[in-house]
Amino acid sequence: MKLIRPLVRKLHAYVPGEQPKIKGLIKLNTNENPYPPSPRVLRAVQAAVDSRLRLYPNPTAQALRERLAKHHGCKAENIIVGNGSDELLALAVRAFVEPEGRAPRVPDKKMSGTRGARPSETVQYFTPSYSLYPVLADIHGAAKNAVPLGADFSLPSVAELRRGGQWDFRAALTLVTTPNAPSGTGYATTQLEKLCRAQQGVVVLDEAYVDFAKEHALRLALKFPHVIVSRTFSKAYSLCFQRIGYFIGHPELIAALDKIRDSYNVNGLGQVAALATLDDLGYYRANFRRIVATRERTAAALGALGFEVLPSQTNFLLARPPRFVAEAWLQKLRARKILVRWFSSPEVRDFLRLTIGADAEMDALLRAARNILDGPASA
Ligand SMILES: *Cc1c(COP(=O)(O)O)cnc(C)c1O
Repeated sequence: MKLIRPLVRKLHAYVPGEQPKIKGLIKLNTNENPYPPSPRVLRAVQAAVDSRLRLYPNPTAQALRERLAKHHGCKAENIIVGNGSDELLALAVRAFVEPEGRAPRVPDKKMSGTRGARPSETVQYFTPSYSLYPVLADIHGAAKNAVPLGADFSLPSVAELRRGGQWDFRAALTLVTTPNAPSGTGYATTQLEKLCRAQQGVVVLDEAYVDFAKEHALRLALKFPHVIVSRTFSKAYSLCFQRIGYFIGHPELIAALDKIRDSYNVNGLGQVAALATLDDLGYYRANFRRIVATRERTAAALGALGFEVLPSQTNFLLARPPRFVAEAWLQKLRARKILVRWFSSPEVRDFLRLTIGADAEMDALLRAARNILDGPASA
């Protein structure tokens, strides 16, 4: 339709994992937490549902930012809260990257490699990583530089990236999922620091799964003016429904993002829920430990069934299944009321991504897997 911009007409939108309403379905496809928010959080949200719903929420999520600042040992000016971290990632593209063709047309001998794109117009990321990044670049009309991770989805060293020739050390925005998704791979902060040091543009370290990992890289965001750490209440804090994420970084970068966000981007009940979450961290830490224990037990059991399971520092496993191709497993598990995620991109099309659920859910997954392995080729 001609009424719609060509860019939007041609856009391949992000495809979220399904949220079907099938009775008895075991949902291991979107990395949601199997455990509910703490009773204190539920009480706080319920207590906030009254006539105040007619009022606008605090426009800067002030109380939540102050509470987060105290928690992380920084200032409220270091923090911006978003309608999920996805919103903030989109804001980062808009604040730091020029759409293609909009950068000043000055002759630039150092124009990066063979890509032809200007660094100021480039969103850069590794593949495979969060599949939203290319979509955000496309929506903005920015150039994309997708650079493959190393063997076993390891983070390439700066020397390797230089040798490879494709990486752009001047890219306006570099997005790094750490620990990575969908591979689950954890990255050492020392290695991330070397990458950050070599990078001239803004670097966002997307730590959506960091609570299930061995280390976090928050100190890099408080040390370097061009580094931002992204966090979310969705995965580890059982709060996907409320859409609360945040960035930590240099006050000037945070102020730039703040300038272009919607005035009331964070809903009031979400602010209440996130604040109450921070008052009950012991509850959540116990859940992290449970999920990590279930993850390790499930990885070992899948390994014994012939799956090739990658080491994970997240609340999901990436596993290459035996006997049938991964896409067939997706269908066979679905027929047994177990929903998992499969990505068609070449680096991961041989794998399934399995969210870690409660123990009983993982036992059901293992039973279904045994049943598929023992059954006829067609079932
Ligand atoms: C889930 C996820 C997010 C988004 O989280 P929200 O805060 O719910 O928007 C961001 N990055 C990665 C890598 C994720 O997996």
